[in-house]
Amino acid sequence: MKALLQTEGIGMTSRRTRERMIDRLVEQGISSHKILDAMRNVPRHLFMDDALASRAYEDTALPIGYGQTISQPYIVAKMTELLLDHRHMKNVLEIGTGCGYQTAVLAQLVDHVYSVERIEPLYKQAKNRLWDLQVRNVSYLHSDGGWGWPEKAPYDGILVAAAPPEIPQALLDQMAVGGIMLIPIGKERGVQELQRVIRTRTGYEIESLEPVSFVPFLSGKK
Ligand code: SAH
Repeated sequence: MKALLQTEGIGMTSRRTRERMIDRLVEQGISSHKILDAMRNVPRHLFMDDALASRAYEDTALPIGYGQTISQPYIVAKMTELLLDHRHMKNVLEIGTGCGYQTAVLAQLVDHVYSVERIEPLYKQAKNRLWDLQVRNVSYLHSDGGWGWPEKAPYDGILVAAAPPEIPQALLDQMAVGGIMLIPIGKERGVQELQRVIRTRTGYEIESLEPVSFVPFLSGKK
């Protein structure tokens, strides 16, 4: 069965604030109803500390510990929209599980998500959180995403949530022909660009899309 999130017991206030987030995403140009519905279903405030939960639906990145951030709602929606591009995807590789919010959104929309995180406490927390939310179509790996997850390749989609200076070769290798990768590229926060890579039968098409700001892609496990 597809991922099913329990949203019972969540007050009307957060339901309303979540609805305002959806309205804002529409104003910002997100048009896919499937993606808007997926984001409506995921209780974003359960992905962060109680102290920050009241700000969960603001259009901003917020700290999740270990120097990392939960991605801003617009960027989650935009990357998901660009990745899926109205297609059905069997498997998607996500690099940078973080708190698991983007993972939960993706899990509503594709058959299976393979998610890799290098910081062990974040990996464990996200895995437990998504299990509690009854998201079952996700596999987790505590590893350096620079290696991808070769055993499960090739992937219809790859979504990278941290910015390396250049596209890791292993990720290119693990794309299916016809597959899409969305990846922020750049050395410093604020001077990165979101790139879309499409694997063709003969090579790769790479396109720069828009300026973005992600945490750095770091190597090694922690
Ligand atoms: N979509 C996530 C984004 C978290 S921030 C969310 O909304 O919570 C990016 C994450 O990428 C961080 O958790 C960071 O630890 C992780 N990361 C950075 N470099 C990585 C690498 N080489 N392999 C795996 N994860 C990495």
